[in-house]
Amino acid sequence: MTETLSAGAVQRQLELLRRVWGYQEFLPLQREAIDATLGGRDSLLVLPTGGGKSLCYQLPALLGEGLAVVVSPLISLMKDQVDSLTQRGVAAAVYNSSLDADERRAVRDAAAAGRLRLLYLAPERLDAEAGGGFLELLGRAGVAYFAIDEAHCISQWGHAFRPDYRRLAALRERFPEASMHAYTATATPRVRRDIVEQLALREPEVLVGSFDRPNLIYRVLRRHDLAAKLRRVLDRHRGEAGIVYCISRREVDDRAARLAELGYSALPYHAGLDDETRRRNQESFLEERTDIVVATVAFGMGIDRPDVRFVVHTGSPRSLEHYQQESGRAGRDGLPAECVLFYSPADFVTWRRLLESSGELTEGAGRLLSEMSRYAGATRCRHRALVEYFGQELVHEGGDGCGACDWCLGELERVDEPVVVAQKILSAVARMGQRWGVAQVVDVLRGRSTDKVVANGHHELSTFGLLESCPPDELRGYLDQLVDRGFLVIRGERYPILQMSPEGLALLKGETDLELFRQQRPPPRGSRRAVSKKERESWEGVDRELFEGLRELRRELAAERGVPPYVIFHDATLRDLARRKPATEAELLEIYGVGEKKARELGPAVLEVIQRQ
Ligand code: ADP
Ligand code: ZN
Repeated sequence: MTETLSAGAVQRQLELLRRVWGYQEFLPLQREAIDATLGGRDSLLVLPTGGGKSLCYQLPALLGEGLAVVVSPLISLMKDQVDSLTQRGVAAAVYNSSLDADERRAVRDAAAAGRLRLLYLAPERLDAEAGGGFLELLGRAGVAYFAIDEAHCISQWGHAFRPDYRRLAALRERFPEASMHAYTATATPRVRRDIVEQLALREPEVLVGSFDRPNLIYRVLRRHDLAAKLRRVLDRHRGEAGIVYCISRREVDDRAARLAELGYSALPYHAGLDDETRRRNQESFLEERTDIVVATVAFGMGIDRPDVRFVVHTGSPRSLEHYQQESGRAGRDGLPAECVLFYSPADFVTWRRLLESSGELTEGAGRLLSEMSRYAGATRCRHRALVEYFGQELVHEGGDGCGACDWCLGELERVDEPVVVAQKILSAVARMGQRWGVAQVVDVLRGRSTDKVVANGHHELSTFGLLESCPPDELRGYLDQLVDRGFLVIRGERYPILQMSPEGLALLKGETDLELFRQQRPPPRGSRRAVSKKERESWEGVDRELFEGLRELRRELAAERGVPPYVIFHDATLRDLARRKPATEAELLEIYGVGEKKARELGPAVLEVIQRQ
């Protein structure tokens, strides 16, 4: 256990971290997790995506006796990790259905002969092979510990239940000597309890990190005028990787086609495409030949590209768990990345209807939906809102916000005389008989004599043109906020219509108060939006041209070796190289993420690019 580890052991861990991985210090809880593994004590480590979980089961494999067996649900993730370890000079292998008979034999021989430090398996392996001598083989190789990655797959309460994970508990009886360690990014206590129970962990050390992802910048915007707003997001990420999530397959196809026409490097991905196209599109993204994937949420599991710089949702997910999971695919490498949620209050009406028709609209599901809607409409720090939702607290140092969300970056501003604005809106809704949707209310308030306005005599109402000079987007934003805060409600079977609640009536009579916010005027069109502090820092002093040159080299090195580019170097490493411009191998070893083997093998090519520049 922790206390009994000698200073020498600690020193050895650090030395490995620096020599093999090229990192200087441990990230929060890595120390503790590694100590538990080395001490043979079962453990559960909960860290957000990008928190550095894999190192926690990889590093101890180099220090102890025996084989580390890593169970992971996704073949592509396993392959990436094994490729990365191999690049770092660590003896690791995958054993799964993607191998042919010869390859399998080679892996079995290597394991039996004690030549492997880590062996990656899919859960079904342990079962399918149960009678076929595979477990005996593991017995002979001597398993030091089992690492169960994505451990929430064992829980029905998780978002990715895999029945075959349930069989892992049997490993306990089979290998009583080996310790068992579970890893997940799932935040809910219920799933955590389930993992401990289902895996039959023995008095586990439970380590739970902060769920905040400080490198992610969160923004929430109205969906109105989506195409133009989306382009603004994409344009500030030119040449960078990103995912654009859409609700339906058709939307995916249309939007991907549209973006491609406009010259963006974008491909579609959804479960309706044939296997071949899907595989090709995914590969193109992983190999950095395509920047943007437009996808349904089917895309993401197993996407290990760590340099995803933005994740856009073009509609609201059904819960904050989903949002956290999907947006969390941005910035796994720890560098700044942007998460933009486009939404409309109508999304929640649609979700309710969808869930209802599929019989899934339980009280719980309804609550999750309301929480999501509250987040979207919130006028406070997004990081704080997310972390609090998952039951933790977030304290900003210095007290001036997180510096990484639309709210804290001051992109929203308070409206003058909010009660007057709200009253104008509410009285328009009232005068129109509470029978109309957002579009018509907006037209009337802005004084637009459309056919529909005239046909219904709305141009003769006293509220016609009351907010004539207010940009439509802003006005819609106010309507959202009135809905979010319960002054207006959305009703209607086929068409969502706006009606006033008792609170709305009170506001109209001047009996209550409220605040309204809007995106800063004038919109930061074309000009770059406020750049967060973290983002500035991470590019601080980076020679961008050299960075691009190194990216090109990385693509070549990756292609030669048949691995994805991020297995060669992460972006953080390229930026550090393009900032510090090392001239010798010794200087190269100082760079973030460059260990001895990479310095030796890739160093000459890297130094040449730097020199040439
Ligand atoms: P997770 O599995 O928790 O999502 P990863 O294991 O993929 O996270 O690690 C996230 C990123 O952090 C990777 O780029 C990894 O190389 C990097 N990383 C891990 N440990 C350290 C460390 N001690 N110092 C710096 N970077 C680290
Ligand atoms: Zn904030």
